[in-house]
Amino acid sequence: MRTVALQIALCAALSPFGAAVQAAPETAGPSATAPITPIAAPKDRAYAGEIQLKVDASDTGRRVVRVHETLSGVNSDTVLLYPKWLPGTHAPEGTIDRIAGIRISANGAPITWKRDPVEVFAFRLNLKPGTRSIDIDFDYLSPTSPKVGALEMSRDLMLIEWNELVLYPAGYFTRQIPVQVQLTLPADWQFASALETASADHAVTNFKRTPLETLIDSPLYAGRYASKLDLDPGAAVPVHMDLFADRPEFLVMKPEHLEAYRSLVRQAYKLYGSHHYSHYDFLYSLSDQIQQNGLEHHQSSEDGTDPESFTKWDKEAFARDLLPHEFTHSWNGKFRRPADLWTPNYNVPMQDSLLWVYEGQTEYWGQVLAARSGLRTRQQALDQLAITAAHYEVQKGRQWRPLQDTTNDEIINPRRPQSWLDWQRFEDYYSEAALVWLDVDTWIREHSKGARSLDDFAHAFFGINDGSFAVVTYTFDDIVKALNAVEPNDWSAFLRQRLDGIGKPVPEDGFHRGGYKLVYTDTPSDYQSITEDQRKRIDLLNSIGIEIDGKESGKDGTLSQVIWDSPAFKAKLTEGAQILAINGIAYDADVLKDAIRAAHSRPDPIQLIVKIGDRYMVANLDYHDGLRYPHLERDTAEPARLDQILAARP
Ligand SMILES: [Zn+2]
Repeated sequence: MRTVALQIALCAALSPFGAAVQAAPETAGPSATAPITPIAAPKDRAYAGEIQLKVDASDTGRRVVRVHETLSGVNSDTVLLYPKWLPGTHAPEGTIDRIAGIRISANGAPITWKRDPVEVFAFRLNLKPGTRSIDIDFDYLSPTSPKVGALEMSRDLMLIEWNELVLYPAGYFTRQIPVQVQLTLPADWQFASALETASADHAVTNFKRTPLETLIDSPLYAGRYASKLDLDPGAAVPVHMDLFADRPEFLVMKPEHLEAYRSLVRQAYKLYGSHHYSHYDFLYSLSDQIQQNGLEHHQSSEDGTDPESFTKWDKEAFARDLLPHEFTHSWNGKFRRPADLWTPNYNVPMQDSLLWVYEGQTEYWGQVLAARSGLRTRQQALDQLAITAAHYEVQKGRQWRPLQDTTNDEIINPRRPQSWLDWQRFEDYYSEAALVWLDVDTWIREHSKGARSLDDFAHAFFGINDGSFAVVTYTFDDIVKALNAVEPNDWSAFLRQRLDGIGKPVPEDGFHRGGYKLVYTDTPSDYQSITEDQRKRIDLLNSIGIEIDGKESGKDGTLSQVIWDSPAFKAKLTEGAQILAINGIAYDADVLKDAIRAAHSRPDPIQLIVKIGDRYMVANLDYHDGLRYPHLERDTAEPARLDQILAARP
């Protein structure tokens, strides 16, 4: 609990630098700026008032959400905060740039405000003594195009993130601030949320009073075309899939696919042996009009995939671990949370050091549960693991940057494009950490002679306090202790070696112990082919070292990634360059693949004509190892433990 962090940041001008300047007045140069009054750190005490939040989200044409907030319990010291550090993104990604038209008043009289010059998410008010309640109006300007930000609203559906729509008082834990919300949606729209409805009258819904912490963790999806599917029929604790789509025909799901999602719920309960919600809602958008989101919450998740995810089921296997991943987060991330990541309000900085558990083990269980439930086939699960490992085999950033350090990436770079992705590394605490957890799982299975596994860890660690919503935090030592309770080992050294080491081999011991080995052939797996189609990318990372935007992307032949030190790097290709011709023939992905195959038996380089900005150049690719695509191949030296991991639990 880092209640003092904000204060320290705000007081940086006070000490010790201010004192040093005063002690040496004869020194030429600037002096320290005037100290800034600290903002009250959050305390675990009841807020003596409440937020009444009226949100009008009916203006979908302009994508403007109008907010009217009445905040009681104020005093002359009240400072208003706009949420900055967001759960799920683990970073200061609050949308302060999107609020406009701020007007604050008390009893109808305007109140002047001033933004804190250091913490620009904070607003200081000029309140008269005795003022107990204020009214706040502002507009939330939801992005009008993708260049402004990920789209949240269209004429047919929307997602509402409450953290974008509220100013709250500094000085309190957010679980101590009650909020009452009234929401106006377009007429005839349906909505879904983990929030409990108090009353509804046509387009206006009043929700039951809830702590601010719960409100912000309970987004709402709404739309013209919607469907609600019961994923756990007859259960006392319901789990629903709340679908919202661009067009009604996208909502149709075949019975066998619905059965796979129901199996996901059953398999998750077998794994964790608990639940930590009174009902759970997958808020699921099938849209290319709004962002395709994946964001975890305690009692719901935001899940967005291609509009035709159900109607073209076989082409969408790449995204099919999304719901298993986000569902897992209800246990790993929301109910159990890294101690340094948990914060008392949304303006205290988060620390992301344990994201290799929070995201890494979730990534692992997401893929395992996708296979166990039938959302992916066993072969697709194996192919995904092969692709992941193969990308790390060519990734050069592992030579200088430890996996542990990548846990800072969401703060360093909130998912902006990077010039040299593999040299810089990016959020490898997801997929490289998933390989580490496979390593751990197979180690336990081998040393316990098949009696125990990482399933036992998940059950013991995430399955405590069945039915409780109260967050339980954990540290690195807690992880080590829980692993030791399953199967004794020097887990601290085991994990630290894989987290902190550089230049080490890719963590593929999980494959070997799992009864598989990574091999390369000149043909992609079916799964890799459909994944490339889905991502609109052509993956040649393991041969010449590039990934290319496909025709469907509208940027045909443009390089989206170049591997550091690869043949393409040596030929001076960079991200953003466009291949125009290969050996004198106009660019086409198949022409390039044919040239790579032909160069296998010839000493001549592959000659590319490339456009970079308004310059053209000839690039000679000195590469002769042919096309290389990864696969996992059965190695009978070990039992097929990986098959056991991916098989549905009885
Ligand atoms: Zn996640």
